[in-house]
Amino acid sequence: MPLPGAKEPSRFEKLSRLWGRALLDVIYPRACRICDQPLAADDVPPDLGEWMCEACRAGLVRVEPPFCSACGEPFDGAITGPFRCMNCADRKFAFEFAVAGFKAEGAVREMIHQFKYGRDQSLRGVLGTMLRRALDDPRLADEPPGEWLLVPVPLHRAKEADRGFNQSRELCLALTERTGMAMADCLSRVRDTGSQASLHRHERLKNLSKAFAMRRGLFQKARDVAGAKILLVDDVLTTGATTHECAKVLKRDGGAEKVVVITVARG
Ligand SMILES: [Zn+2]
Ligand SMILES: [Zn+2]
Repeated sequence: MPLPGAKEPSRFEKLSRLWGRALLDVIYPRACRICDQPLAADDVPPDLGEWMCEACRAGLVRVEPPFCSACGEPFDGAITGPFRCMNCADRKFAFEFAVAGFKAEGAVREMIHQFKYGRDQSLRGVLGTMLRRALDDPRLADEPPGEWLLVPVPLHRAKEADRGFNQSRELCLALTERTGMAMADCLSRVRDTGSQASLHRHERLKNLSKAFAMRRGLFQKARDVAGAKILLVDDVLTTGATTHECAKVLKRDGGAEKVVVITVARG
């Protein structure tokens, strides 16, 4: 059940999405998004089979236990029961935990790169379907799917204008279309923090402080984040510094009760 105040897509929006997709099917006949082999039209299994052939699906690396109970970093070896990785042992995250569908390697890494930097929006569907795998985490089963509110990690306005879209928002939309889950684009990035890639951990944290804020204006009249259980959505989780800052703002300024981070991939 959608949360009260959540915006239902209008008939027009639903129809235009349907038509948009039908149009894409004409332009891009169904072929595996990784190896380009044609996919059989009639015996396409649902879910990821809609986007890639069996061999390519088998080549994706799922994030499976054992993984860090805080940041979702997979661990090669035998550990039973919850544990924290070395990276998180001395850290306190504002989110409850982070979970990813796949490891960011090979084809997964390439697709995300192509989506973001190659601006290939036709990858939105397959990545949205992959993001859905993160929802399989048993720790999310405590709440019915309708209880969660999807929130995208925002981009700075200048960056979004340059890219033409915010990849996290597109992933939220793709998930909303597939699950009917409610979404609220309620955060904004008020400071352009540039690329974090070259910074050390403490520099990243410093660089990100005060980078995010609750979006004011129209949104606040439409719905309130107060008391909400939030699934914060991003494409890849690397150190967790960005999502930590977002979760902090959602809880401190938005009054969110719980924030769990879901990403397509774990970097
Ligand atoms: Zn393939
Ligand atoms: Zn960890």
